[in-house]
Amino acid sequence: MFGKVLIANRGEIALRIHRACREMGIRTVAVHSTADADAMHVRLADEAICIGPPSATDSYLNIPAIISAAEIAQADAIHPGYGFLSENARFAEIVEKHKIVWIGPDPEHIRKMGDKVEAKRTAAALGLPLVPGSDGPVNTPEEAIAVANEIGYPVLVKAASGGGGRGMKVIPDAASLPSLMAQAKAEAKAAFGDDTVYIEKYLNEPRHIEFQVFGDGKGGAIHLGERDCSLQRRHQKVLEEAPSPALNGDQRAEMGEIVRQAVAKLKYRGAGTMEFLYEDGKFYFIEMNTRLQVEHPVTEAVTGIDLVREQIRVAAGLPLSVTQEQVRFEGHAIECRINAEDPLTFAPSPGRVTDFHAPGGLHVRVDSALYDGYRIPPYYDSLIAKLIVYGSTRNEALMRLRRALEEFVIHGPKTTIPLQQAIIEAPEFIDGEYSIKWLERWLASRAA
Ligand code: ADP
Repeated sequence: MFGKVLIANRGEIALRIHRACREMGIRTVAVHSTADADAMHVRLADEAICIGPPSATDSYLNIPAIISAAEIAQADAIHPGYGFLSENARFAEIVEKHKIVWIGPDPEHIRKMGDKVEAKRTAAALGLPLVPGSDGPVNTPEEAIAVANEIGYPVLVKAASGGGGRGMKVIPDAASLPSLMAQAKAEAKAAFGDDTVYIEKYLNEPRHIEFQVFGDGKGGAIHLGERDCSLQRRHQKVLEEAPSPALNGDQRAEMGEIVRQAVAKLKYRGAGTMEFLYEDGKFYFIEMNTRLQVEHPVTEAVTGIDLVREQIRVAAGLPLSVTQEQVRFEGHAIECRINAEDPLTFAPSPGRVTDFHAPGGLHVRVDSALYDGYRIPPYYDSLIAKLIVYGSTRNEALMRLRRALEEFVIHGPKTTIPLQQAIIEAPEFIDGEYSIKWLERWLASRAA
C-alpha cells in the first residue's frame, strides 16, 4: 500500500480523500493556492505545499507545479478528486511518466470517454442503448437538419468536449437551427477550445439515472446501483438520491448487470459513472464520467462501501474488496448540495463564515471544509457543503433531511439551504415524481 498520497484538489473533496487515506494509514500531502493557505484541507494534511496564485489555471490546474510538489514530498500516488485535473488524460500520463501512481482509470479510457462522440461510439459497441442522434459530429447546419428531420424535433445540439451543461442548446425547429447551432459552437469553443458538436433527440420528460461502477483493470467489474440526479438547474445537479424512486429492484439488477458487463469488457480500472436518461421504462446512455462524482456519498450510504478506499486499493493493484454478489443495497439516501449562493438569484456569495454549526445525529453526514471564521474565496466552485442523510425508507430519510436542514447553521455568506428546504416540501418531490425538467418549472412558478 502507498505510504503517501498527494491530493490534487481543495475543499470538501480534498478532506474526503484525506479521511480515506488516514483510515488506511496513509500520509497525505495537500496542495493549495495562496488563497487557500488557511483552508481546512491544508490544516489537516500531514504536509502542505503552495502551488501558485489564486487563479485555478495557475494553481489547481498547474501541472508542472503539482508534479514538482509530488516529487518534493516524495508522494507515491496522486488522487485528483473531481473537477480540476481529474479527467485530464494528459495529466494522468504525466503522473505515470514520473513513476507516480495515478489514482484513476487508464488515461486511454479518460481520453475516450472525454470526447462524448467517441464515448457514444464506445458505448454502442459495448451494447449500451443510446439516445437517437447523429452518428458522430455534425459540421454544417444542413447536416444537422438532415439528422433532425430523421429523428424529429426538438433536438439538442451538444458539445463533444462538453461538461457542466455548457455548449448545449435545445432546437425547437429547422428555422432556428442554424443560429442556435452557431451559438452552441461558439460557447463550446470558448469553454473547451473545441467547437465540435453533435445532435441528439431532445427527450421530453426523462429522469437522469446514473450507475456507479468499479473495475479492477483486468476485466473484473461491479456496479453499485444507481443514483437519481434528476433534480437539476441549468443541467447542474442540485439534489441526488439512491435508490431512484422510479426503479424497482428487478430493474436495478437488470440494468446494473448490463452496465457491469460493459465495464468489464472495457477492462476499466477504478471508479466510474455511466450516465443515462430514463424515459418510459427505457435507458439511454449519455456519457461516462471517469472519476469520483460529487454525489458518491449516497451510494456509500446505501451500500456501506467506501468508494475512495476502493479507488486507492485498485490503484495499488489490490482486488476490489467485494464481489457483485456481496453488494447489498439497503435503505435510502439523499444528498443536498449546499452552495454559497443567493437562494433566489443564485448569485455567488463568497466571504467570511461568521457562525458554523453542522447538523449531526444518527445517519447524518456532512462533507464540508467550512469552519467558523473561514473566508470562502471567490475564485472557485460555490459548493461549500454536502448534507447526506440515510433512512431505512425514503420517507424516513426525508424526515431526517428536514430535521438536519433545520439544524444547519451557516452565517455570513448566503447559502442554498432555504432553497433545499423548500424543494423537499414540494408534493412532487415528496412523491418522487419529478423529471429533469421539474426543478426549473418549479423555480419559475415560485418566481411568478
Ligand atoms: P454535461 O457533460 O455538460 O453535464 P450531459 O450529457 O451529462 O452534459 O447532460 C447533462 C444534462 O443535460 C442531463 O442530465 C440532462 O438533464 C440534460 N440532457 C442531456 N442530454 C439530453 C437529451 N438528449 N434530452 C434531454 N435532456 C438532456
